[in-house]
Amino acid sequence: MGTFKAWVVEKTEAGQSLAFRDFDAADLMDGDVTVRVTHSTLNYKDGLALTGKSPVVRRFPMIPGIDFSGVVETSDHPEYKPGDAVVLTGWGVGETHLGAYAERARVKGDWLVPLPQGLTAEQAMAIGTAGYTAMLSRMALEAHGLTPAHGPAIVTGASGGVGSVAVALLARAGWHVIASTGRASEAGYLKDLGAAEILDRAELAKPGKPLGKERWAAGIDAVGSTTLANVLAMTRSDGAVAACGLAQGMDLPTSVAPFILRGVSLLGINSVTTPQAKRRQAWARLAGELDLDTLAAMTTRVRLEEVGRLGEEILAGRVRGRTVVEVG
Ligand code: NDP
Repeated sequence: MGTFKAWVVEKTEAGQSLAFRDFDAADLMDGDVTVRVTHSTLNYKDGLALTGKSPVVRRFPMIPGIDFSGVVETSDHPEYKPGDAVVLTGWGVGETHLGAYAERARVKGDWLVPLPQGLTAEQAMAIGTAGYTAMLSRMALEAHGLTPAHGPAIVTGASGGVGSVAVALLARAGWHVIASTGRASEAGYLKDLGAAEILDRAELAKPGKPLGKERWAAGIDAVGSTTLANVLAMTRSDGAVAACGLAQGMDLPTSVAPFILRGVSLLGINSVTTPQAKRRQAWARLAGELDLDTLAAMTTRVRLEEVGRLGEEILAGRVRGRTVVEVG
């Protein structure tokens, strides 16, 4: 295989460095499937890895990029053969295992899922880890027994990747979606995705009371910190909030009041190590239930060479919706 092009993070005495360069295929890590990567994406965690702002990269040198779609080149795994179209999200790829911002990846076949029927490789990465996490969040709310008949659903970080797909998925399922955003200029975009109301995120950002007026029955929170605390404080009795992100912060300055006085539930979402059965169920549901025109409307394309400059952009909250990285 020789060499291939890749973004590579190195650790130096001055900190972390990032370069787009040739990578020797002999230096790929162990795995039973080698994939020709055709598409990747940009997620918040990729921003952390590209910039080194948070220590998500645990091995150097590292090829960042936590998700990809592509075509199997070689396989010793019983389920995959050359030519198969596959998708990967999570499992520490781009953190502890060489990742997706490269023309080749070698991974464990057990981490892959077949490209879901009805999606192209590009659409799968337009969804990517962020969209897949939005679906896991909706599934958690449904498993809790919540339906649109229980009341509105709030989505925080709504203009971001998880948020945009969450708005679209909830609206498609009939929810009255309240989209919380710091970008008033994106109100039209969010309404086009299906949001019924826009809430200025400043209303949720500052420390609030342990309990507030009951405003929504369900929530998908990509933000954490005081925002999540306020979302919980304003959740209706027996409602639930799926917590998946930390764009505002990792802290959660709340009290037990929403839990013991209103029976509110906090549902944790971890997309990285989701078991295979649930993973495939989420992807099949995304292929069947996400409107592909709506997905296209939230997606921007960049080439692999451009991805290096986008880490700072996503951490600054300046990236709208989803970004597909074209590798092939
Ligand atoms: P994005 O950057 O695309 O979206 C985050 C959004 O949060 C921004 O667009 C912005 O939305 C809002 N935001 C940013 N900074 C702040 C702030 N200081 N206070 C309040 N809101 C803010 O990232 P992703 O959608 O890729 O990821 C969102 C979060 O979910 C991240 O924390 C990520 O790590 C996490 N995540 C977790 C996963 C899991 O398995 N649990 C999987 C995938 C993501 P707006 O401008 O509309 O206000």
